[in-house]
Amino acid sequence: MTEEEIKKTIEIPEKITVREFALKLNKPVTELIGILMENGILASQNEMIDYETAAIVSEDLGVKTKLKKEGKEIEAITPDQVMKKEDKAKLIPRPPVVVVLGHVDHGKTQLLDTIRKTNVVAKEAGGITQRISAYQVEKNKKTITFIDTPGHEAFTAMRSRGTKIADIAILVIAADDGIKPQTKEAIKIIKAGGIPFIVAINKIDKPEADVEKVKKQLADLGYLPEDWSGKTICVPVSAKTGKGIDELLEMILLVADMEKDNIKANPEGEILGSIIESHVDPQEGAVSVALIQNGTLKIGDTVEVGRVYGKIKTMKDFKGESINKAVPSQPVKILGLKGSPTVGEILRIAHDISGLKKKIKKHRLDYHLKTPTQIKFKTKKQDEEEKEEEKKSASAGEKKSIVKPLNIVLKADTLGSLEAITEALNKIQHEDFKIEIVHRGLGNITEADVGKAEAVKGLLYGFNVKPTSSAENVAKGEEFQIKTFNIIYNLIDEVIKEAEKLLNPEILVETLGRVKILAVFRNENTYQIVGGKVTKGKIVSGAKAKVYREKQKMADGRITQLQINKKNVREATEGLECGMKFEGEPVVQVNDFIEVYQEKKIFKKLS
Ligand code: GDP
Repeated sequence: MTEEEIKKTIEIPEKITVREFALKLNKPVTELIGILMENGILASQNEMIDYETAAIVSEDLGVKTKLKKEGKEIEAITPDQVMKKEDKAKLIPRPPVVVVLGHVDHGKTQLLDTIRKTNVVAKEAGGITQRISAYQVEKNKKTITFIDTPGHEAFTAMRSRGTKIADIAILVIAADDGIKPQTKEAIKIIKAGGIPFIVAINKIDKPEADVEKVKKQLADLGYLPEDWSGKTICVPVSAKTGKGIDELLEMILLVADMEKDNIKANPEGEILGSIIESHVDPQEGAVSVALIQNGTLKIGDTVEVGRVYGKIKTMKDFKGESINKAVPSQPVKILGLKGSPTVGEILRIAHDISGLKKKIKKHRLDYHLKTPTQIKFKTKKQDEEEKEEEKKSASAGEKKSIVKPLNIVLKADTLGSLEAITEALNKIQHEDFKIEIVHRGLGNITEADVGKAEAVKGLLYGFNVKPTSSAENVAKGEEFQIKTFNIIYNLIDEVIKEAEKLLNPEILVETLGRVKILAVFRNENTYQIVGGKVTKGKIVSGAKAKVYREKQKMADGRITQLQINKKNVREATEGLECGMKFEGEPVVQVNDFIEVYQEKKIFKKLS
């Protein structure tokens, strides 16, 4: 390296904000944003770009880069590691933690509701509004913890962080509907999680319920029900009437007993918890719900959760009552953290606060400071060329379908939901379209989000967030629609609906009738006036037509005028003679047949 080159080498960490990058390049931020845009990167000054992007941009500007090695990452620890360190002799039984999975509409929510209503002894102080994502019930003097976030996405998002949250899964299958794709998916998730499951065959109150059929379907999948001398526990229930719920709870206790060596913790041991809910409440500030997995969490403890830390000021149990300590398998609402942790993250006691603060400062990876998605802006020429290409390929072979992009900008209130939605959307796949989340982030929908969505002709969705009034105004002005949801499934359904619009419709050709040509009255360049007799079906004015000679197709066209006895009519039925104006290549001769047909577009659905 020459001296000149060394001077021109800058050190860049793995991620850098646009602002800091501009400083290093000694360029105004606005100019850098422009340069990035030319490179297809849409990033505001607070957004982060990764080293590779920065290196490419630097190179273009004649500046060499070097990757700056960071200090150690904040140490990630898995619950397993903590538990392994525990003294086996001190482990005592804790309540089993149960999750509910199953196909949509099979009754997961209703089941969780019914169990909660009928088995929570004391009245819940806050009622429904205070509700947190887990609760505990008593059965035969034993406690069971239920995680009240039904849905595979939430569960998978937690699990993908290596957190084992649940000990037992309940697989809900509606007796009137049987095993569905999401049921199979749930089984896969449960298997991957390595936990036992109990099948709740739900909706047995319905007349069309068929418990035996569900059992047969299970057996076909290799899960032979217990009463068919297999190992799969099935409990017929009605979440609506409450029938079978007691049996289900007893089964949970039985399975927990069989698994008792795995369902243990040391209440005196190292504190370990998993975040199962996290949001910012307008009144309470950062609110997190943790499921305690080991140790006993107390008021005044200083904890760290990923990059968030804080002293526990207030703890509430699932009923909304203030508590001083939380023991293993207990869900607890925590106030006082200095930020919103991520669902699935591990809560531990913070030992080295000042060190932690330093590390956090260094690694300030706020979610919205993430690497922006690369958005490719096309020049007008590129756009036209592409359209031309599309046309060509479409006419070259009609079968060759074009993968249409479905661009989405997604905003959510918590990282957990953002991840869950992303994961669910990534699963929607089809050869006709490709879902692309061009930008995702936390917080309300801003003007910038509208801009990003518009730039890619995309859809803008919010989950548990609202558009700011300026975003609303911009959207209104541009007639751009922002849609917000508070149920993940509804959002997913909406995307599915949008995706279905992109499915190439099937064209169904329905022949309406045939007419034998008996006379040709007039020949013009673009049309002919002909007369004939309807031999089959009916001829309809305005319909598309094909001309046949023997079996050979001669031309395509349209019947634009139809007459019987010189009077215009809409249709002529079998046996009638009629006059027609055939618009198309003027090839029609006496004895030819004209067949009229209609095309029906069948809009496909995603299965
Ligand atoms: P999820 O999507 O699996 O959470 O399903 P929900 O709990 O929302 O239930 C879907 C629909 O089925 C709702 O309309 C419920 O009222 C209904 N449902 C749930 N359980 C039962 C049941 O045991 N019997 C009957 N008849 N309906 C039920």
